Amino acid sequence: MSEYRMTIGLEIHAELKTRSKMFCGCANASIDHNANDEKTPNVYVCPICMGHPGTLPVINKEAVRKVLLVGTALGSTLADFTEFDRKNYFYPDIPKGYQISQYKYPLVSGGSLAGVDITRIHLEEDTARSTHPEAKNIPGKEDDLLGVSLVDFNRAGVPLMELVTEPVIHSSEQAMNFAKELQLLLQYLDVSNANMEKGEMRVEVNISVSNTEKFGTKVEVKNINSFRAAGKAIEYEYTRQVALLEKGESVAQETRGWDENKGVTFSQRSKENAHDYRYFPEPDLPKLVLSEIPELERGVLVTNMPEIPAQKRIRFVEKFGLKPEDIEVYITNRDVGAFFESVISKISDENKQDKDLVKTTSNYITSDLIGLSKGVGAEFSYGKMTPEGFAQMIMMIKQGDIS
Ligand code: ADP
Ligand code: ZN
Ligand code: MG
Repeated sequence: MSEYRMTIGLEIHAELKTRSKMFCGCANASIDHNANDEKTPNVYVCPICMGHPGTLPVINKEAVRKVLLVGTALGSTLADFTEFDRKNYFYPDIPKGYQISQYKYPLVSGGSLAGVDITRIHLEEDTARSTHPEAKNIPGKEDDLLGVSLVDFNRAGVPLMELVTEPVIHSSEQAMNFAKELQLLLQYLDVSNANMEKGEMRVEVNISVSNTEKFGTKVEVKNINSFRAAGKAIEYEYTRQVALLEKGESVAQETRGWDENKGVTFSQRSKENAHDYRYFPEPDLPKLVLSEIPELERGVLVTNMPEIPAQKRIRFVEKFGLKPEDIEVYITNRDVGAFFESVISKISDENKQDKDLVKTTSNYITSDLIGLSKGVGAEFSYGKMTPEGFAQMIMMIKQGDIS
């Protein structure tokens, strides 16, 4: 068997944390999945997001700003001219018969993250949520043999960014690392909660295998709702595609779904091409020249950009001289990092210079404190520990008052 090389490109959607939906004034309830109303279907709806004829959409400026902020953090090119397009298709979760998306002029192009080149990031509206419960679980429909499908439009029209990477990833580890790094970035920028289990971040993987210089036929896998699932779906596809080629068969270009319970991918539909969607510029929205909108200028975006993981890693090395493992704990658990920083801030300036003391502090937090808090609950909790108290304890250890 000859060597097969796997190639992966990712398409990642993230729901943006805005107060209102993308093109109407409805509350964006999807950002708070714990809100009671979010559990009541079809309450965050209006004639615009329900696609009633004669209604007019209005662009959510904050959603545009959030996508540009991500582009700024990735070192991408931000568009000057941009427009929205209609992507036409019929599906019960798309009330208008088309989705307002972007085609030719995405807001963001290029850039990179974790060694992966970004193709583009564009802005679109989310679809409604469909569920297909078994009839026996639905009051009044218990005897329905066909079952039912339900549609909840609360999510329809929620701002959604779509990031597409170049096909430059060659292992499941690299793919998962990129997705995790993007999730952190979105959370640090406060652009999205990006929780995969809640569907706030959705990863689609495109995978091909080849034993020649040329790319193989790619397969797109959807319905992945955790990083672990992404890795497993990639491994599964690699094995499946190699087996097909080894048998002398070809890989069909198609969209497949990930079955979490069975741990397999299954064919959903043959892949449609861009021309099937009959994209055309959305006639109900103005085209935008972003340099004419003061809040969206690059300089303004940079000035208002919160610290991102890459910057925090550098700061933690320079300021505290910590080892990479500790720094990663603080990068992925922001509250623990904040606790560490506030403990250090309670230590006298002179003692702060003592690198061993800073290291000791970090050791107690990353091993002992986290270890203890794990016994209490899933979330990090300090119990009764305050940063002042912790700093005092560290000083007592240093002075040999306690071991
Ligand atoms: P499509 O028009 O089918 O949507 P795109 O060119 O837009 O294809 O690419 C979609 C995604 O698929 C991108 O993330 C891209 O990197 C990835 N991709 C493209 N070609 C391949 C390939 N041969 N193998 C794996 N991924 C690929
Ligand atoms: Zn609405
Ligand atoms: Mg595409």
